[in-house]
Amino acid sequence: MSRASAAWMGFVASLGCVVCRRAGTQPNGIELHHVAEGSGKRSDFAVAPLCPEHHRGASGFHGQGSRAFCSAYRLPGESEYGLLVWTAEDAARALLARGAL
Ligand SMILES: [Zn+2]
Ligand SMILES: [Zn+2]
Repeated sequence: MSRASAAWMGFVASLGCVVCRRAGTQPNGIELHHVAEGSGKRSDFAVAPLCPEHHRGASGFHGQGSRAFCSAYRLPGESEYGLLVWTAEDAARALLARGAL
């Protein structure tokens, strides 16, 4: 893990769960989901912040599977990559609020 990827993952984790934010619910804890095609190579820059429930729980990505999850929460493009769109949106908001964008 490079210094840049460690810093990026810390920043992404600080944004809070992208699904909870849009559902208006309070996230409880944070985990990073690596977005990748099938068993393709994972990048520490392609990560999305999810609470444990929305990550591994019954209503979560790994709990109900990619297709059902993307459909249930209406991810942009109805694809796992929509998680990266939401992460970028929330990152932009956070950076704007800090005057860093
Ligand atoms: Zn959540
Ligand atoms: Zn995951």
